[in-house]
Amino acid sequence: MSTLYQQERETAIRAVIAASGLTRSIQKDLAGRSIQKEDRTPVTVADYGSQAVICKILNDAFPDDPIVAEEDSGELSKPEHAEILTQVTHYVGISSPRVSSGEICQWIDLGSGSISRRYWALDPIDGTKGFLRGDQYAIALALIEEGTVKVGALACPNIILNTHGGRKSRGGLFVAVRGQGAVQFDIGGNSGRKILVSNLHSPPQALFTESVESAHADHRLHRELAKKLGISRPPLMMDSQAKYAILARGEASIYVRIPSPQTPDYREKIWDHGAGSILVEEAGGKVTDARGRALDFTCGKRLENNYGIIATNGWLHGDVVNALGSLLP
Ligand code: AMP
Ligand code: MG
Repeated sequence: MSTLYQQERETAIRAVIAASGLTRSIQKDLAGRSIQKEDRTPVTVADYGSQAVICKILNDAFPDDPIVAEEDSGELSKPEHAEILTQVTHYVGISSPRVSSGEICQWIDLGSGSISRRYWALDPIDGTKGFLRGDQYAIALALIEEGTVKVGALACPNIILNTHGGRKSRGGLFVAVRGQGAVQFDIGGNSGRKILVSNLHSPPQALFTESVESAHADHRLHRELAKKLGISRPPLMMDSQAKYAILARGEASIYVRIPSPQTPDYREKIWDHGAGSILVEEAGGKVTDARGRALDFTCGKRLENNYGIIATNGWLHGDVVNALGSLLP
C-alpha cells in the first residue's frame, strides 16, 4: 500500500473516531430529554465537543496546518452559555481528564484557520437535524491541497453497517485517500473493506438519494429530474454526508442537491462536501456541481464557483448532467 498521506489518514481516522464516541454518548444521554423539548442543547454540546476533540488531535499532529471548521467559541464563551460549556467540558473530559473550559474554547478556535495551499475542512456534526431526530448524521473531515481533496474521513455513527438475522448493526467509518481507494470500517476503525460504487448503467434502475430537508434542496426539481431519467422508485431521503457513503458503497447511484427555491443563492460549504466527494470518487464515482463543473475548494468557506451538487456512480453522470441541463434556472 502507498505510504503517501499515511500519517494524515491515521490522524484523521483517530480524530473522527474520538469525536464519534463523544457524539454517541451525548445522543444517548441528552437526546431523550431535549429532543422532545426541541431545544438544541444536545447538538450544540456535540458540535462544540466534536470540534474541540478533532482540532486538538489534528493540531498536535500537524501544528502548521490550518483547520477551517464550522464552529467557533464566540457564543459558547458568553456567560449565558456557561451551562453548555460545562457540559462540553464534561464530555471532552471523558477522554481528556483535567481539561479546563478555557482550554476547550482554545481547541475549538484552532478551527478558525484560513483557506491556504493545504488545509483541513471540518464539519463536527453534519446533518444537525438528523442528529436531533436520532437519524443519520456525520462527522466529516477532509484534507485539501491545491484545491483538491486528498484525504477524507467520514464517521456515520447511525448508518447501517450490516444485518445479521434481521438485527442491524450501526456505525460506519468511511476513509478515502486520493489514488488509494475507499474503505468502510466499523465505527471503531476495525473490519475494513474496500467499497465500490454500483455498476449500474441504466438510469431507470437507479436509486436516487437527496436531503430530508426541503429547505436544503429543491425536491420538486429533483422529482422532475427523476421523471426525465425514467426513475419511478421513490427517492432515499437521508440527512448528512451519509448520502455519499451510501453512494460509495453502491446502494444508491445518484445524489443530487439543487438549491431550494427558498434560498436560490445558497452556495455549498466546503465541509459539507470535502470528505463525501473524495469518498465517492475513490469508490469509482464522480462528483461535480449541477452544471457538470469540478468542485472548486480554493475560494473560501463556500463553493462560490459552483452551483448545487451531482454525485453519481460515474456511469450515470452524463445522463444526469444532460437531463438536469434543461431543468435548471
Ligand atoms: P443535509 O443533511 O443533506 O440536509 O445537509 C446538511 C447541511 O446542509 C448542513 O451541514 C448545512 O451546512 C447545509 N445547509 C444549510 N442551509 C442550507 C440551504 N439553504 N441549502 C442547502 N444546504 C444547506
Ligand atoms: Mg454540515
